[in-house]
Amino acid sequence: MKVDPRFTSQRCSACGIVDREARESQAAFQCRSCGSPATPT
Ligand SMILES: [Zn+2]
Repeated sequence: MKVDPRFTSQRCSACGIVDREARESQAAFQCRSCGSPATPT
């Protein structure tokens, strides 16, 4: 599965979900699926 670079900052590193609406800012992403305050990579 191709990873769109635009999604990498919106992808939860804990569960792997991509949630385009989860990212409030690049400095504060929180997964709405698992609630993990994942750090964008
Ligand atoms: Zn998650």
